Amino acid sequence: MRASHIHDDWGGAYIPEILHQTFLELNEQVGAARADASFWAEYQRLMAEYSCRPTPLTFAENLSKHFGGARIYIKREDLNHTGAHKANNVIGQGLLVQRMGKKRVIAETGAGQHGVACATMAAKFGFDCAIYMGAVDVQRQRPNVFWMEKLGAKVVAVEDGQRTLKDAINEAFRDWVTNVDTTHYVFGTACGPAPFPELVAWLQSIISKESIIQIRERCGKLPKRIYACVGGGSNALGAFYEYLDTDVELIGVEAGGDGLSTGRHAARLASDDASPGIAQGYKTMFLQNADGQMRETHSVAAGLDYVGVSPILVDLWQKKRVRFEAATDTEVMAALDLTVKKEGIIPALESAHAFVQAFKEAPSLSPDDAIIINMSGRGDKDIFTIASAYDDPSWRAFIIEKAAEYRQGGR
Ligand SMILES: *Cc1c(COP(=O)(O)O)cnc(C)c1O
Repeated sequence: MRASHIHDDWGGAYIPEILHQTFLELNEQVGAARADASFWAEYQRLMAEYSCRPTPLTFAENLSKHFGGARIYIKREDLNHTGAHKANNVIGQGLLVQRMGKKRVIAETGAGQHGVACATMAAKFGFDCAIYMGAVDVQRQRPNVFWMEKLGAKVVAVEDGQRTLKDAINEAFRDWVTNVDTTHYVFGTACGPAPFPELVAWLQSIISKESIIQIRERCGKLPKRIYACVGGGSNALGAFYEYLDTDVELIGVEAGGDGLSTGRHAARLASDDASPGIAQGYKTMFLQNADGQMRETHSVAAGLDYVGVSPILVDLWQKKRVRFEAATDTEVMAALDLTVKKEGIIPALESAHAFVQAFKEAPSLSPDDAIIINMSGRGDKDIFTIASAYDDPSWRAFIIEKAAEYRQGGR
């Protein structure tokens, strides 16, 4: 059922009748919060106190010298509480839940980052919390499951379908339908039925509201280009938001996986493999087969392997306001290595996708031009993936020894 439109062609809210009232109320609350300057002031205060905002805009002097072109600036979303931009969204929605007088939050999570962020928020605000996660992801992401449970959330392993993210989203909606009066669904990215895409993009706009001031202070003008990785699209929309009406070039970088020609990737807008579809309550470009079955995706970055993408980004892509590129797993590892060595900064595997494209383009720009890379998160969470990609022998020995200790019941 189509309850409301944000864009004529993309998005919408295809929701079951039983959620109709809840969505009317949610739209009203979001509208009221956006019209009320005190909401944003309270949000900024809380983000300053709890999540180190404003995050710095770091001049990457060594990388800039290395490439000999544009001056490269990094917007440090990794310095948020819990290590990524996800804090911006969950804390903002937490304030909204408080206003609505609800006491329970639920969320979907794939790699577990949004689940941890949401469980953290629930602990701080004193909400009950359930996190829906595909059973396969529960197996793969044990460290995040561990922290969600320690933070007091109930982690529900979803055994339906392929037992991954989209199955978790379906199950979370089922919970919401049953518990609408007490519960708010904290959607994790700028996808899903309206008003979630607009709500999440608006909360994430705190990134560009800061960076536009910071870059003007540093350079006296706007940057030439801004790069951000794109999973669902929330960090990219946050990084682009305040620049949409300027002539700053905006570049979204998707997961190229093993390469676009292999089919093993998660590039929806940078490849020709996606097509329009309606699923999970909204219309967007999905990676799906001719029967509308969602395709398997692949990326070294667990946070970028979603089959859909923000309807707002699809709209901006069609209008040619945002350009889309893809970075392969191999390119991502190289960009990560270079950034660590040159700047002492460890980007998340997701964020490293944005670095790849910026590094390709920086040499052909002038030192008069500044570019911003939105570093969505920190990479120490990725130690298992990164260490095995390096095939680091001492890491392997460490894991084997730890496993042996556990097997003997030691600590
Ligand atoms: C979740 C995540 C992403 C992908 O989500 P978007 O909604 O596209 O921003 C990117 N980077 C990091 C570090 C993440 O945790």
